Amino acid sequence: MQIKPTVIVTGASGYIAPHVIKQLLDEGYAVRGTLRTLSGGELLKANLSKNTDVSDLSFAQADLLNNDNWAAVMQGGDFLIHMASPVPMKEPADENILIKPARDGTIRVLKAAKHAGIKRIVLTSSIAAICSGLNVHRKYDEEDWSNLDKLNGSMLAYTKSKTLAEKAAWEFVKGTDIALSTINPSFVIGPLIGTRHSSSTEIIRRIIQGKDPGWPRLGFSMVDVRDVANAHVKAMQFSEAIGNRFICSNQYLWMSEIALILKEYFEPTDRKIKTWELPDFMVKFAALFDPTVKMLLPGLGKKSEFDTSKIRSQLSWSPRSIEESIVDTAESLIKNKRL
Ligand code: NAP
Repeated sequence: MQIKPTVIVTGASGYIAPHVIKQLLDEGYAVRGTLRTLSGGELLKANLSKNTDVSDLSFAQADLLNNDNWAAVMQGGDFLIHMASPVPMKEPADENILIKPARDGTIRVLKAAKHAGIKRIVLTSSIAAICSGLNVHRKYDEEDWSNLDKLNGSMLAYTKSKTLAEKAAWEFVKGTDIALSTINPSFVIGPLIGTRHSSSTEIIRRIIQGKDPGWPRLGFSMVDVRDVANAHVKAMQFSEAIGNRFICSNQYLWMSEIALILKEYFEPTDRKIKTWELPDFMVKFAALFDPTVKMLLPGLGKKSEFDTSKIRSQLSWSPRSIEESIVDTAESLIKNKRL
């Protein structure tokens, strides 16, 4: 019997990781996913088993905040996809709540992988490590690094955590024989496996909930979770990926444009989708009373775009249409009762 190569995937319980695990199992790898608590493993397996054979999936317990069990987790692994990192719904009171597991956790995981002889690693970074605190009048590319001294707006601690974690990883592999690649996704949307969704699917959730009167002039570069998963698998397999970061993004849309796609899709049903774009003065007025709205002000009317030629050419990566991703997200949130 042929022994399958084993991929360690950290943060198996998350929104994106189950999609990576599914694609790896479908391609004939054995997968060991890490969980903070093993009790969630059976449900995750049951959810994955609806669409894939899970006989080569196992779980191991490990926490980014301590060394316990990481050595055992990595034992016999051939590849590592390090995806675990906290993704908050709101700004934490103390930035270290995110920075410690992200940066220190990444080093902890990489050390254990190195010790176990794993030489091929893909790290899930983010566009948060690329475009924040910069003032450029062009598309961002992989040469850009977020400027942590000039951050303003929302998700500051998250931006710091992702930037510091990615920098620490590149620093760690310098002078070693570890081949590292990073995937830097933009806002990830797309269907859920199980019920776990992420702060990035919140935009779609709010639009289909229909409670808000309209949408501020805010937009997002978005990408489908299935295409993000595929980018990770390709980065792990393609030798061209070694030593490279890859922006993984599909298309920028304003919130009102996302709402319009959903309005057209739900037109034949009872679901009413609002598409009105709120004037900036109204958003600024609301910000006087609501700190959450205040956090949005620096991004009002600003469009950030990303050059994705590198991932498309070097990894032959080609995402599905953004309309399909938006509609599938909405359907999945409704089906899984996440409204
Ligand atoms: P998610 O659903 O919140 O998943 C985060 C994962 O990290 C969970 O499995 C979580 O475990 C784990 N984790 C958090 N703190 C941990 C700790 N101390 N020890 C061990 N595991 C810990 O988020 P996601 O959207 O799938 O994100 C996955 C990765 O993609 C992250 O690295 C994130 O920064 C990156 N990313 C996401 C987006 C996006 O739009 N969603 C965009 C760019 C990059 P628990 O289930 O136990 O909490």
